[in-house]
Amino acid sequence: MVEFAERSFGKLEIMEKILTNIANPSIAIVGAGPGGLVAARVLQLGGVDVTVYDADASLESRDQGGTLDLHADSGQIAVEDAQLAEEFAALARPEGQAHRLLDPQGAVLMEQTPALDETAAPEIDRAQLRRMLAESLIPNTIRWGRRLASVNDATLTFEDGRVETADLVIGADGAWSRVRAVLTDAVPIYTGVTFVEALFTNVTESHPDIAALVGDGHMWANGDGKTLVLQRNSGDVVRGYISFRVELDWLAEAGLGAADGRGGVLDSNGTSATHTERVRAVLRDRFAEFSPELLRVIDDTEGTLPSRPIFALPTPTTWAHRPGITLVGDAAHVMSPFGGNGVNLALLDGAEIARSIVNAVRTGTAIGDVVREYEERMVSRGATLGKAANDAIAEHYAIGGPDLDSIPNFDEAADQWRANAAEYRASRN
Ligand SMILES: Cc1cc2nc3c(=O)[nH]c(=O)nc-3n(C[C@H](O)[C@H](O)[C@H](O)COP(=O)(O)OP(=O)(O)OC[C@H]3O[C@@H](n4cnc5c(N)ncnc54)[C@H](O)[C@@H]3O)c2cc1C
Repeated sequence: MVEFAERSFGKLEIMEKILTNIANPSIAIVGAGPGGLVAARVLQLGGVDVTVYDADASLESRDQGGTLDLHADSGQIAVEDAQLAEEFAALARPEGQAHRLLDPQGAVLMEQTPALDETAAPEIDRAQLRRMLAESLIPNTIRWGRRLASVNDATLTFEDGRVETADLVIGADGAWSRVRAVLTDAVPIYTGVTFVEALFTNVTESHPDIAALVGDGHMWANGDGKTLVLQRNSGDVVRGYISFRVELDWLAEAGLGAADGRGGVLDSNGTSATHTERVRAVLRDRFAEFSPELLRVIDDTEGTLPSRPIFALPTPTTWAHRPGITLVGDAAHVMSPFGGNGVNLALLDGAEIARSIVNAVRTGTAIGDVVREYEERMVSRGATLGKAANDAIAEHYAIGGPDLDSIPNFDEAADQWRANAAEYRASRN
């Protein structure tokens, strides 16, 4: 019978038809970032069985990054779908929407301070967002310390040798997704821009000058192909980014070790090398035209100045639909951080795929059909915003410095997010 069916329909179509008939499918999500976690939450609200696997040892096993703004037309809609709007409002920082733009000497070129009741894009720390989503799940939904090695026909093999199966695998495993590798050969490409991270804690007392520079939100001091960024986080913390157009292997070229191919360096034992003072000296040299006050971002950081090259997938990145496997968020469309759409799309993708599955189960629709529809919409949306984000980073770090007129006006962006949100809600009702 199976042989007959295989001859008639082909193997992939048979899997699709099997998935069609599953009344209560089991879903495996790889990656407990914002995209994977919101998908799990919306699935559980809809009564669908889901397990999340993450490579991290625990929720707090490594630094979870800086602040993110959740847009009214995407991230906030997903948070609503997850029934976590109140929890988000309690953590969100509307005052964090303030922006200041300086020149390399510290002169203020532009300043915007949205009203405190502005809810177009409030800030939240990535760690807080992840915790809020993780704690909303049924206990034990997330299996920590499980790094996926490969996926094959909905069988997941982990690096610890364990094997799991599921009816549908959702790859939410970020920029270097192993799930994506089954669907396409596409890999992220270096944008030509690197962000080196700075960290300031207890800023009110220990770093009053940094606190004054950043205000309640963000500071950008733009030079020619280089920008110093400060961002206020919760808990009296400010994070900085020393960002510039540079070769991927700049640390190796500065003699700090062997290039690791991802912008880092390896020592003679093949392990990641850190040379904070030598990195600081190289950065000091490159940003020599900035004022001493601004150079405190480099001088006073408490961290080890880790280098984070910005990688982005080609736009569009497409694949032939494959039954039993799909992607959300950065795994599908990692893009430059310009525009802040990475986390917002991850959340919207996660909520959308989950809602589609819940509806399919309720109505007896083929899950393969709703996954296909989701992929068409998600790939096209990710490619449009990804192209804009990747063009924006190239323009910002172009020779001669950014064109100030091209920097988005917050009020206009806020109106656009609100209009998009109304359109999105109307289209799905
Ligand atoms: C540690 C970290 C810090 C970040 N900091 C910032 C920031 O400060 N500002 C900013 O704008 N963006 C930051 N980002 C990126 C931003 O969070 C993402 O663009 C956005 O959240 C997209 O979410 P995502 O859920 O698609 O993927 P991610 O948030 O990248 O989450 C992917 C998850 O998958 C897990 N994972 C990866 N590979 C495997 C594997 N093989 N097996 C199992 N699990 C795996 C990871 O541990 C991670 O939890 C950060 C991302 C990470 C992972």
